[in-house]
Amino acid sequence: MRTKAEKNGQGNYVLNGEKWFSSAAAVADIAMIMARTNPEAPRHQQFSTFLVELPNPGYNIVRNIDTMAIHGPLTDALGGTHSEIEIKDLIVPEENLVGGEGQGFAMGQHRLAYGRLRHGMHNVAMAQRALDLATAHITERETFGQLLSDRQAVQFMLADCAQDLYIARLMLLHIAYKAENGMDLRQENGIAKVYLANMVHRVVDTAIQLHGALGYSTDTPLAAWYTSIRSQRLVDGADEVHRWKTGKNVIKAFKEHGTTALAAGGDLL
Ligand SMILES: Cc1cc2nc3c(=O)[nH]c(=O)nc-3n(C[C@H](O)[C@H](O)[C@H](O)COP(=O)(O)OP(=O)(O)OC[C@H]3O[C@@H](n4cnc5c(N)ncnc54)[C@H](O)[C@@H]3O)c2cc1C
Repeated sequence: MRTKAEKNGQGNYVLNGEKWFSSAAAVADIAMIMARTNPEAPRHQQFSTFLVELPNPGYNIVRNIDTMAIHGPLTDALGGTHSEIEIKDLIVPEENLVGGEGQGFAMGQHRLAYGRLRHGMHNVAMAQRALDLATAHITERETFGQLLSDRQAVQFMLADCAQDLYIARLMLLHIAYKAENGMDLRQENGIAKVYLANMVHRVVDTAIQLHGALGYSTDTPLAAWYTSIRSQRLVDGADEVHRWKTGKNVIKAFKEHGTTALAAGGDLL
């Protein structure tokens, strides 16, 4: 994202810049654009958020970026694509500034916090469905004269998935509790975002493995899910960025409280 906004002296902002991977832009009626309004301000107060009704001559879709995700109901629900946008002399009236100048970063973080919670719920639902599909398959598939479900190695794989799902659900419940009670949920949300993105990846991968070649085919939804959820480790902040921030908060908690508990979900009990 490299978009700047300048005032034109007639009560309007003029936006110029570019943005790629704008999900659902191809089907959007309104764009929410974050642009730098003041490069001299402290880092987190440089950006502002604008609402722009579409179509608009200053807002052009350069291309719709195709990805590794196999097309299906899941990808197509968001217009099936992520667009590259060019913003050229886009005139935005002052009343379309949301929340005041310099509030863009704070608003973005607020939205992302709840977006991550929603992604997390989605990941749990998908992992649960994958585990159901895998379990249905192994209770019918016989190899070497025995049902797969009777093999301990296979049962261990199911146990790992169940454990992953249980942890994921508890994480979400804790964060939802914090959100409902207006508590600071940033640290837990960052930890859970990474865990849930990797959890769904592991569980869907295990479900594919247990289906054998059938799992690699597109006869089940698993292949489409697998290609779609790879993005979870990137969107709304890559794993490494969240782990970096999480680790810094662990050190901060230790310095401030003499224990890392508050940076590790320690207010749970
Ligand atoms: C399917 C999909 C949909 C998306 N939709 C949207 C959207 O609608 N709106 C939107 O604004 N964005 C969207 N994005 C963009 C997404 O938010 C970014 O891809 C993500 O934040 C990572 O940024 P980047 O791609 O610029 O990677 P970079 O910042 O270039 O990072 C590349 C890699 O470097 C490593 N890295 C980066 N920083 C650090 C660090 N500090 N410490 C250690 N390692 C690091 C990580 O491994 C990271 O994956 C979407 C992306 C995808 C894949």
